Amino acid sequence: MSCIVEIALACPLRQTFDYLSDEPVEHWQPGMRAVIPFGSRQLIGIVIAIKPVSEISTDKLKKIEQQIDKQSFLPVEIMQLVQWVSRYYHHPIGECFQAALPKKLRLGDSDEMQTETYWALQQIPVNKPGKKQQQILDLLEDYPEGLSEKALRVQFGNVKSSLTTLAQQNVITAREHVALPVPCLELQQTVSLNNEQKQSIEKVLAEKGQFSSFLLHGITGSGKTEVYIEICREFVENQQQVLVLIPEIGLTTQFVERFRHSLAANIVVINSSVSDADRKQAWLLARSGKADIIIGTRSAVFTPMLNPGLMIIDEEHDSSYKQQDGLRYHARNVALMRAKTLNIPIVLGSATPSLETLYQVKLKRYQLLKLTKRAGGATLPNVKLIAANKTADNNGLSSVLINSIKKHLQQNHQVLLFINRRGFAPVLMCHECNWQANCRSCDAKMVVHQHQNRLFCHHCGLIQTLPKKCPECGHSELKSYGVGTEKIEQALTAIFNDIPVLRIDRDSTQRVNAFTNMVKQINQGQAAILVGTQMLAKGHDFHDVTLVGVVDADQALFSADFRATEGLAQLITQVTGRAGRGKKSGEVLIQSEQPEHPFWKNLLQDGYEAIAENLLKERIQMELPPHGFWAVWRAEAQEADLAMQLLQQVAELLQQTASPVMILGPVPALMEKRAGRYRAQLLMRSADRASLHQLIDQHIEAVSKLKLARKGRWSIDIDPTELI
Ligand SMILES: [Zn+2]
Ligand SMILES: [Zn+2]
Repeated sequence: MSCIVEIALACPLRQTFDYLSDEPVEHWQPGMRAVIPFGSRQLIGIVIAIKPVSEISTDKLKKIEQQIDKQSFLPVEIMQLVQWVSRYYHHPIGECFQAALPKKLRLGDSDEMQTETYWALQQIPVNKPGKKQQQILDLLEDYPEGLSEKALRVQFGNVKSSLTTLAQQNVITAREHVALPVPCLELQQTVSLNNEQKQSIEKVLAEKGQFSSFLLHGITGSGKTEVYIEICREFVENQQQVLVLIPEIGLTTQFVERFRHSLAANIVVINSSVSDADRKQAWLLARSGKADIIIGTRSAVFTPMLNPGLMIIDEEHDSSYKQQDGLRYHARNVALMRAKTLNIPIVLGSATPSLETLYQVKLKRYQLLKLTKRAGGATLPNVKLIAANKTADNNGLSSVLINSIKKHLQQNHQVLLFINRRGFAPVLMCHECNWQANCRSCDAKMVVHQHQNRLFCHHCGLIQTLPKKCPECGHSELKSYGVGTEKIEQALTAIFNDIPVLRIDRDSTQRVNAFTNMVKQINQGQAAILVGTQMLAKGHDFHDVTLVGVVDADQALFSADFRATEGLAQLITQVTGRAGRGKKSGEVLIQSEQPEHPFWKNLLQDGYEAIAENLLKERIQMELPPHGFWAVWRAEAQEADLAMQLLQQVAELLQQTASPVMILGPVPALMEKRAGRYRAQLLMRSADRASLHQLIDQHIEAVSKLKLARKGRWSIDIDPTELI
């Protein structure tokens, strides 16, 4: 008896597809994968449902070519989660599954876990074993299930010949075992926690087994990670799994190591630095319940768990949790939804919580846990604002800052200089004819990168050779203005020629492990100057940094983006938190061209919490997010005006329905031309979530059928983090 199978395919169409199967109904379950013909291609799809009849007549349906799984490979919970994501973000279902699955599984790989040879004790040796052999035997005594050669090698170096000898004597025996992460054999002693930390842990554990959301608001260096680890300990002991989300860049290694050295648990990592094969294995270990703790970036939020107990989102304010193309989901929102469905607690941690999260605390939807003291008795740094020099050949550094750097280096300490722009200088111009190096594809300036002798557009990636003379008038002297990491690096190298200057930005860390290696060098603790972009602001513990300097911090104060001030307050608080984290006390100097701006007084005197409170009040008054419910339609096209025309038609469609939702626009994007395309947007604001989604649901199909919609690109963004 054949049946009809409804399948989700990775394609931009907002629908599922019916196929015929020769297999009987009982051989199919939702959550299986199948190979099907689609046009001239062969695709892999996910089974959504098995149906007795199709709306399309049976003779028009194509046949499924192959069933990949013998049973459902996606748990029901994940199936429902992905379907919710598709509805909530108004994104094609097939592409949502695509985003939720590891690459290898998406491409049809078997969902069996990799195995590995494990060595376990068999019998007591007759002959006295050699020294290394004895060490191996001692260790295996603690691991009745055995250990892999890889795990033994980490501990003892090359063990091949010892293992062969022991195996020949039948002292140990080999067996195939699911490949688990290499265990950490030397666990650190638990650190002593202060009262605030203990109370936070107790409050979370009191909500075990039910949905409850927490904001763990701890100042920088207050030991949030220790709180996470102690909470995890309890869940791991109860055989419950914990999913930990961390932001995108650089952080993983240090964070994972802290967990590995504190907990006797199987900890898997899911992020872009992990190979496809390891990622698949990590996902499968999580699904099988064998991974106790899953640590990963944004897309790890979709990882299945057999015995879920808790979710943690570290640095919850971080913008990398929001995907800005394709399926524009926010991992924090998806995690909250998931925690609610699974009926488990969720902890959001940050030193600088987002206004969204603070708003939820205000509405009493999240419990607030506070850590107000630095762990280990470290003190908060002394923060001072200094006026920037405005001299002609300014290298970006004021004399006050340079003298301070000198002082700290003399004490053999490290200095961190933060500047949020990579490259050498953001402006290149000719004084004879006023020519400026602009990007031909964007409404933006080209940035000088002296190391590579090139001009880069940071918006579209356009690269040009650095011109030696003016392309307009031929004048031989071109001047660069403004500062970037390269210019600061060059200036510091000239001033402090015997001190290493490490530049840490996207350009200097492109090679694999470059960042990890630099962090290693920094942790050796000699005097050094670190110059970097926001990669340096995120969660690192550099114990020998005693001075943090912030260069050129002002731009955000004059941005048209209403979120810029929030971002600046978070960034400055995070960066200044990098000083004095060890036993040495710290100092922070913020160099500003606008030291009188009220923002600085508010932030430095009253702190992040106070400034966030003010910003939130302002947003509520002005009816901006997190107040209300928002969506943005965006369009872009190579032809000027096409995007605006398309969105005008979208606005007209939306206005056909009587609805309390406000339609604002369309307007051109702030940077209208980018990568050769003209961009525009249309905003929707609603006092309630349901009306907003209803209105989109009613019209999205018609929008996708507009003639202009096929000429340009368009998208819809729910709960957008960018409105300009
Ligand atoms: Zn010129
Ligand atoms: Zn460009």
